Amino acid sequence: MTTMEGDMKTDWDIIIIGGGTAGLSAAQYGARANLRTLLIEEMAPGGLTLIISDLENYPGFPEPIQGFELAQRFTEQAEKFGAEIMSATVTSIDKQKDHFTVEASDKKLTAYTVILATGAQHRKLEIPGEEDFSGKGVSYCATCDGPLFKNKKLLVVGGGDAACDEAMFLSKITDKVTLVHRRDRFRAQPSLAQRVQANNHIEVRFNHEIKEIKGDTQVRSAVLYNNHEDSTYEEEFDAVFVFIGSIPQTALVPDAEKDEIGYIITDQCMRTSIPGLYAVGDVRNTPFRQIVVGAGDGAVASHCAAQYIDELKGQSYD
Ligand code: NAP
Repeated sequence: MTTMEGDMKTDWDIIIIGGGTAGLSAAQYGARANLRTLLIEEMAPGGLTLIISDLENYPGFPEPIQGFELAQRFTEQAEKFGAEIMSATVTSIDKQKDHFTVEASDKKLTAYTVILATGAQHRKLEIPGEEDFSGKGVSYCATCDGPLFKNKKLLVVGGGDAACDEAMFLSKITDKVTLVHRRDRFRAQPSLAQRVQANNHIEVRFNHEIKEIKGDTQVRSAVLYNNHEDSTYEEEFDAVFVFIGSIPQTALVPDAEKDEIGYIITDQCMRTSIPGLYAVGDVRNTPFRQIVVGAGDGAVASHCAAQYIDELKGQSYD
C-alpha cells in the first residue's frame, strides 16, 4: 500500500511507536476496533516491563507475575486481534495536512494517527566513575544484574519507587544492601518505603549523595557525602545500582507541547498539541507511572484515535 496524496488513503489507521505495555495496550484496542494498526518497536516488545522481576500490583494477579510473562501476554493479545508488530527504529515523524509519515528503517509509512509510546530512559548520576564502570558494577537494572552479586555489598541510589522496589529485590540476593537518598525522606509510596525501612537486609542512609565511583576492573568503592553533617567518606562496595528517575523520550516530536520537565502534555483523551498525535505511558505528563496506568492510556488513546479518524473521513468524504 502506498500513500495517495489528496484522497487520504494511508498505509495504516494508527501507527504506534514504542512497544512497552502502554503501546501494546493501544495496539490491542486499535486492532480490536478494526483499525489497521501497526506497532513499531526497535527492541523486543514489552519495554521496561520485561525487566521487572515480581510484579505484585498489576490488577488481576493476586500472586506476583514476572514482568516478562505479563509483557508476553500483552503482545499475544494485541497480535490476536490483528495488530502488526514491526521491528524497526523510527527516525522521523512528519505531519502532512491530514496524515503522518513515519520513517522507520528506510521505509516511509503513512497513517491518520500516531500514538507515541516511547517511554522514558534511566537518568544518570553524571559523576566520575559512572560511565567507566557501567556494566562493571554500575547498573540500572537490579533484575538483570543483581544475581551477579550474590552475598556482595551493594549500594542503591535513589529515593523513589524504583529505588525502593529494586532494593527489596536485591535484599533477597544479599543481606548487605545500603540505600542512599539525598533527602531526609523517601519519595516512594509510603507502604513501599515502610517495607524497605523494616527490611533488615537494607540499611537506609538519608541525606546522602554519591560523589564518585571508584574501582579497577570492577567497582570497588564509592565516595559518599553526608549533606546533613557536611562530611565526605569512602566506603567499599561491589556494585552500585542507580534508580534516580527517568528522562522522557521525546526527540521524535520536538514540536509537541511539553511540561517543565519535558514530559508531553496530553488531555484526558491522550491528545497532544498536534492533532492526530497521541502520547501514552511514561512519555506523557501522567501523575502516576505504573503499568496499569500506561495500559489505560493506551486504551483511551486508541478509542479517541478511532473517533478522530471517523471525523477526518467524515469531513473529507461526505
Ligand atoms: P522518581 O519517582 O522520579 O524518583 C527519583 C528519585 O531519585 C527521587 O527520590 C529523587 O530525589 C532521586 N534523584 C533524582 N535525581 C537524582 C540525582 N541526580 N542524584 C540523586 N538522587 C536523585 O523515579 P522512579 O523511582 O524511577 O519512578 C519513576 C516512576 O515510576 C514513578 O512515577 C514511580 O511511581 C513509578 N514506579 C512505580 C513502581 C511501583 O509502583 N512499584 C516501581 C517503579 C517505578 P528527590 O526525592 O530528592 O527528588
